[in-house]
Amino acid sequence: MDNLTPVTLVHFYDTRLHQILCGVRGFDHKSTKHSRSVTCHACVALLGERAGLAGQGAEAPAGNATP
Ligand SMILES: [Zn+2]
Repeated sequence: MDNLTPVTLVHFYDTRLHQILCGVRGFDHKSTKHSRSVTCHACVALLGERAGLAGQGAEAPAGNATP
């Protein structure tokens, strides 16, 4: 990761709750329905918890791997 490059946080948009998963509101935030594109750590953590609770193996969180 290059810290010199400004990165816009991408949140996870919950299609069930119709809001961003970590709770931020407003239109200034980028969000996606694709968990792999999420860069917000809070959303990633919540996604991980949800995946464990739901037991869905379709989208395994790949963001935990440290290079
Ligand atoms: Zn978020």
